[in-house]
Amino acid sequence: MADKVNELPFFYGNITREDAEDYLRQAGMNDGLYLLRQSRNYLGGFALSVAYSRQCYHYTIEREMSGNFVIAGGKSHKTPSDIIDYHSQESDGLVCLLKKPCNRPRGMQPKVGAFEDLKEQLIREYVKQTWNLQGSALEQAIISQRPQLEKLIATTAHEKMPWFHGSISRDDSEPRLLRGSKTNGKFLIRQRDSNGSFALCLLHGGKVMHYRIDRDKTGKLSIPDGKKFDTLWQLVEHYSYKPDGLLRVLTETCPRPDGVEGPPLPEHHPSIGATGGIISKLKTIKNLGSKKLKQTQPNTYESRVVNKNKADISPEAMPMDTSVYESPYADPEELKPKTVHLERKQLVLEEGELGSGNFGKVLKGVYRMMKSEKPVAIKILKNDDNDPAVKEEMLREANVMQQLDDPYIVRMIGICEAENLMLVMELAELGPLNKFLQKNKHLSVKNITELVHQVSMGMKYLEENNFVHRDLAARNVLLVTQHYAKISDFGLSKALAAEENYYKAKTHGKWPVKWYAPECMNYFRFSSKSDVWSFGVLMWEAYSYGQKPYKGMKGSDVMQMIERGDRMEAPPDCPAEIYDIMRKCWTYKSEERPGFNIVEARLRDYYYDIAQ
Ligand code: AMP
Repeated sequence: MADKVNELPFFYGNITREDAEDYLRQAGMNDGLYLLRQSRNYLGGFALSVAYSRQCYHYTIEREMSGNFVIAGGKSHKTPSDIIDYHSQESDGLVCLLKKPCNRPRGMQPKVGAFEDLKEQLIREYVKQTWNLQGSALEQAIISQRPQLEKLIATTAHEKMPWFHGSISRDDSEPRLLRGSKTNGKFLIRQRDSNGSFALCLLHGGKVMHYRIDRDKTGKLSIPDGKKFDTLWQLVEHYSYKPDGLLRVLTETCPRPDGVEGPPLPEHHPSIGATGGIISKLKTIKNLGSKKLKQTQPNTYESRVVNKNKADISPEAMPMDTSVYESPYADPEELKPKTVHLERKQLVLEEGELGSGNFGKVLKGVYRMMKSEKPVAIKILKNDDNDPAVKEEMLREANVMQQLDDPYIVRMIGICEAENLMLVMELAELGPLNKFLQKNKHLSVKNITELVHQVSMGMKYLEENNFVHRDLAARNVLLVTQHYAKISDFGLSKALAAEENYYKAKTHGKWPVKWYAPECMNYFRFSSKSDVWSFGVLMWEAYSYGQKPYKGMKGSDVMQMIERGDRMEAPPDCPAEIYDIMRKCWTYKSEERPGFNIVEARLRDYYYDIAQ
């Protein structure tokens, strides 16, 4: 069914969000003007771009296991066209009704993403081999690091492409293009020098045209006065559907004399050897130490690629170390103690506090295992505390944490009952998100979105496993690095029984009222949907760089404001799309509020689009 999509006049194929917005703008941006494109983020999925009120809105259409299509949270339909027909009659969550298709300009074909499958395969191989991950840890790592991974793969993968002919001269390139078929648009790319400049050689009317591709100071590639790209791969994809200043679009790859075969897949699947080559190259790049680089690498294109990768994909940007993605017990030789009771002698406490709370303090320490050591955070119950309720609270928190295992949730390593009761956890050294952002106002929207998206992934995990957090706020998101967030503080959390979809508190407690949904305040009812409300407030805190929500207002005033239907305004410079997600999280009725499955999908989409 999806094959038929190619025939729809308003289907553009594999174009970017930016391009979609350009086409809608060129067509007038009337309310309800729409186009369909292939999703760059979900294999087999689509994206619907709609104009409304001079803004563009983008909805992902996912392909379900059944083969049907669905906009997250909406009704399932047989084909993407059925979704469009449906939303021409019912807005049902969309910003407006779909009124008029924005058709492709005359003569333009949908853009084919010829390299998508190959790219997908390379990413998977890379993560599997380099991080040694499997199963859900592998999937999670790919989801959260996809934009960086794509760049990493695409920066070097052109070398395996049949259109890349390496360092050959202009004179050598011409006979290659003139041999065999003389199709207009037949092309190859050659390397011009070692400074990262290339040439695009294109056959047109029996003649070979040569376009320079230069690299600017920031490392971007472009034909003089043309659009800039991070990689040759993206440049080729762009010019293969849009002439954009060239005499014509690229149509046919000029084969390399070494006979290297490339896409389309799957008929010409690269052998393991071919992918292995790239993987080992990427591994080499990753393993080069910075000291060695400075001393021995000349300023060649190769070294720039290495340096560029280092800048983009520094260990902070991508947690290469698998230990951050997996529990310390993932190593089969490290036995997880059945009772997670740790021996005092396994712990070394360090000076200085990471933080404190009403239970006591949190110290940095080291946990000594059989084979290795791991830096940890240790929550220590106050010695002088005779209040059994506080001890019970800490044990309850430990009980919840012990059941959770997700890369975006602080893991508990164990409990130690020595001079004090100690809760030993993974260390998230950069501390709470709100404080970090207050001190780092230069952080980009992309970086904030990366972190907030990770929190939504952790919350989606909790939702799927029937846990409610009940204290989700920026202060309870801890940072391992500037690019890696984990949810913490499970002091108020509850596991829901299978038949329940909410937890009912018996009495009002010491509650973070400004983060709580109306049903928590009015009916003491807590569910994943009320966590979604809190997540909206957390997003607001993040995009306002750690400001306090509802500043200067009392809890009771906030409740009145919400009941009146008013909500916080967008933080300064907050993208419209992000504010729209916040507003959805603050839907009054919990049954109409999106779940984390939907919120995560929207954030993921936005993040991938801005990170490309
Ligand atoms: P909590 O009562 O769990 O919110 O902890 C109080 C403070 O201790 C937090 O705000 C953090 O500054 C610090 N903290 C708690 N857990 C950790 C951890 N796993 N890694 C680093 N710092 C932590």
